[in-house]
Amino acid sequence: MELLQGINGVYYLLVCLVLGLIVERMFPWRGGVNISLPRWLRNASLTFYNTLILSFIPMIAGYGSAVFAQEQSIGLLNIQAAPIWIQLLFAVVVLDLASYGQHRALHHWYFLWRSHRTHHTDRYLDATTALRFHPFEAVFRTATEAPIIFMLGLPPEGILLTYAVHVFVNVFTHANISISPAIDRTLAIVLVTPNVHHLHHSTKVEHQYANFGSAFTIWDRALGTFVPPSELAKDEVFGVDGPENIAEETFGNLVLDPFRTPEKSAIPKPAKK
Ligand SMILES: [Zn+2]
Repeated sequence: MELLQGINGVYYLLVCLVLGLIVERMFPWRGGVNISLPRWLRNASLTFYNTLILSFIPMIAGYGSAVFAQEQSIGLLNIQAAPIWIQLLFAVVVLDLASYGQHRALHHWYFLWRSHRTHHTDRYLDATTALRFHPFEAVFRTATEAPIIFMLGLPPEGILLTYAVHVFVNVFTHANISISPAIDRTLAIVLVTPNVHHLHHSTKVEHQYANFGSAFTIWDRALGTFVPPSELAKDEVFGVDGPENIAEETFGNLVLDPFRTPEKSAIPKPAKK
């Protein structure tokens, strides 16, 4: 059953990805995105290993934790009954907050940053950037998410719904999609838009320490890490600078990067205001 959910999850990811690629071709935010096949293949290769092998784990571990907690009547929602729609909403909101916390931790601790920077070293942002995550990051997210699901007794359906929301949002917020400023501003009151997340991929370290949210901007707004999408410049440079960057973009370098310590191994931090 869990394996079937995982396979369905991969199909769903592919549908979202193709949709993202089509929409960004139709309404591109800016030109000059490197859509070369080698880059796409590098990002997709990470997904091949990461999604087809390791991303099954978050799904299975999260889903499995939810099923086990339900069977054993363990966890808050399995003790205190609530209508299913409240349980689903609770799962999506709580796991989005968890994702925000994970993302901040990935930037805060150097050994976590070493795996997360694989995602940040993409110099171009398009739908395929959503595929570019190091397997260690997937393991970290799994290890920290499953206990939350278990302790809160989140329903299995809520895990699947959150997965569906986060996969869609992941592709949508990395895609090179143009959105009118008025719609962007309105959506960004609650939701993470492409411009909101693109800012987080800037080489400017102060922007890398902003807009950590996955689906909702409410966590960034509440915790003082929100930078409005209007700050995104049309010529914004994406990636990481200096020794943190990957010298040569090859699949091997992407996978091995966390094991290599740049010469200056201090984690990039924004200047104190
Ligand atoms: Zn990040």
